[in-house]
This record gives sequence, structure tokens and C-alpha cells, in this order.
Amino acid sequence: MIDQYYRSTVLGIANAEPIKNLMQTKGYSLAKRFVAGNELEDAIKAVETLEQEGVHGILDLLGEMISTKEQSDPFVQKILEIFPAIKEKTFPKYVSIKLSQLGLDVSAELALENGRNILKAAQEVGSFVRVDMEDSPRVDATLEVFRTLRTEFDNVGLVLQAMLRRTEKDLEGLSDLKPNLRIVKGAYLENKDVAFPEKAVIDHQYRRLVYANLEKGNHTAIATHDHVIIDDMKRFAEKSNIPRSQFEFQLLYGVRRDLQKQLAAEGYTVRAYIPYGHDWYAYFSRRIAERPSNALFVLRGMIGG
Ligand SMILES: Cc1cc2nc3c(=O)[nH]c(=O)nc-3n(C[C@H](O)[C@H](O)[C@H](O)COP(=O)(O)OP(=O)(O)OC[C@H]3O[C@@H](n4cnc5c(N)ncnc54)[C@H](O)[C@@H]3O)c2cc1C
Repeated sequence: MIDQYYRSTVLGIANAEPIKNLMQTKGYSLAKRFVAGNELEDAIKAVETLEQEGVHGILDLLGEMISTKEQSDPFVQKILEIFPAIKEKTFPKYVSIKLSQLGLDVSAELALENGRNILKAAQEVGSFVRVDMEDSPRVDATLEVFRTLRTEFDNVGLVLQAMLRRTEKDLEGLSDLKPNLRIVKGAYLENKDVAFPEKAVIDHQYRRLVYANLEKGNHTAIATHDHVIIDDMKRFAEKSNIPRSQFEFQLLYGVRRDLQKQLAAEGYTVRAYIPYGHDWYAYFSRRIAERPSNALFVLRGMIGG
């Protein structure tokens, strides 16, 4: 976990037009470390490869922060196409979506309607759908849409971010829904009024949130590459008699593959989040902003050609 100064510097540079243009034309070969490819078939292949190592996949069509219905419709269409394409597959079916991709910034009603159609299509093929959490201005609307979806569907879960000061209350507020939650540290650049700036505090909050959701009896996806936290979670589950079926570890495609394989070999459920699609730049920038060695890897790649 990196401090906010490094994160804001990298994301600031990444959003500067000349850098964006350069990266979008020349950076794709570098982004491929974190992105399965442009097409759904590429992502399905990535799932099948990981399955051979005992790791399951989460399909994620890239694209976010869309401002019109016309922009959002093709993304919704592409997400709906996932389900017939994986219908006959024997691997566990699991998709992540972002509500801003479904038109949340146009209206919550549009995101809800699109979410319902996606969940229905997912239900028909036995797929689970996880609603990712985006930056803090979108949290209220995301919670509201999730609440409605959760009352209508069983195959839906949500993400909560440990870095946000509000999250402990949000978790409490969701209790009546018995939510399946993915807990993450949080990937967005946030102001210290709304987010904890210190790594130690975020790590502490992270543990509290996971423990709280597990103790309520809810399924919890522990989504981190932080091996110290992962080890603590294993110990906590054992000590508290939390069955392994109640939690799983989730990591990002291309990050700590060794750890993914190791956890799977130890008998834990492990899933890798597999992004695919043409809109890779925002996702890629967040991965760079997370870790200085990733920024060096990009710099070396750009200088090297
Ligand atoms: C499955 C999954 C789904 C996610 N969904 C969301 C979401 O919906 N909303 C959201 O805001 N965030 C999401 N995130 C991102 C998350 O918030 C963090 O930004 C990201 O996981 C990095 O934090 P960390 O928990 O791994 O811990 P950190 O403290 O950042 O890192 C711990 C260690 O992990 C390794 N590591 C971490 N990141 C990288 C990287 N990019 N490259 C190489 N090594 C790395 C390093 O060894 C590092 O020392 C998701 C993450 C995962 C794994």
C-alpha cells in the first residue's frame, strides 16, 4: 500500500493528455501484464489456464465512468453476451461489474435496470455477479442500487473499501441483507476528509471489516495481495471456527501468481480478477499507482521501445 502522495502524483501524470496519448498508443504491450486481452475469448482462455492451477477466474469487462446512456448501452450488451458464452463451461461462473459502466452517472434508475437485466442473465447460467466499488462520490448511489438488487437476487455481492472512513457504518447498514462482501483496501485517489491516509490505519480497518463480516456469518472475499494480512486471516478463521466455505481469497490477474497458486494448493478457494476489453487505461493506471516497481517497469518498457 502506497502513500497518497505517490498515488496522486502517478494518477496526475497518467491523466495528463500527452502521457495518456502516448500510453494508449504504445503502452498496451505493458498493460498486458494485468489485462487478459481485448476480447471475451481472451479472458475465457485466461480463466481456463488459471483453472489448471486450481485458481478460479472473475471476468471483468473494462470500461467505467461513462456519462451517457448511448455510451453505456454497448457495454451492457457486451456484459450480457458473457453469459451465453460461458453457459456450457464447467468452471465456476463469476463476473464483476461497475455501476458507472451501467449508467450510474446518468441515473441510479438506469444502472438499476441494467443491473437487473445482467443479474437475470447471470442467474440463468448459474453465475455470481459482484458489484465493484468505485470512488467515494459514487458510494451512496452504489449502496442504494445494490440494496434493491440484493432484495431481488441471491447471486449478487458488493465491494467495500477499508480506506474510506464511512465503511464501517456502511457494513453495519447492510447487515439486514446478509451481504456477500469483497473487502479491498481501495484503489482510488481520495481526500483525507473521506479516507484514511495512513497505511497502518487502512490495514487495521481492513482486518476489522473482514472479521466483522465473517462474524456475522456472511461470505467474505478477502481481496488483497498483502501476505501478512492473508496469514492473519487464515489464523483468524481457524481460531474462530469459520469454515473455509465462508471465505475466499481474491487477487488480481498478473499480480502475485505465486501466492495465488500457493493458496490454492493449501486448499483455499482462490479467484483472480481478470480484466479484458479495450478500455484498459484507467485500470492500468491504478495498478501503476499502487506500486513504484510497476511504474519502473512501465518506464523501462517505454524507454526500451
Ligand atoms: C480481486 C480484487 C478486486 C478488487 N476490486 C476493487 C474494487 O471494487 N474497488 C477498489 O477500489 N479496489 C479494488 N481492488 C483494488 C484494491 O483496492 C487495492 O488497490 C489493491 O488490491 C492493492 O492493495 P493490496 O490490498 O494488495 O495491498 P497493498 O498494501 O497495496 O499491497 C500489499 C502487497 O501486495 C503486492 N501488490 C499490491 N498491488 C500490487 C500491484 N499492483 N502490482 C504488484 N504487486 C502488488 C505488493 O507485494 C505489496 O507490497 C481490488 C483488488 C482485488 C485483488
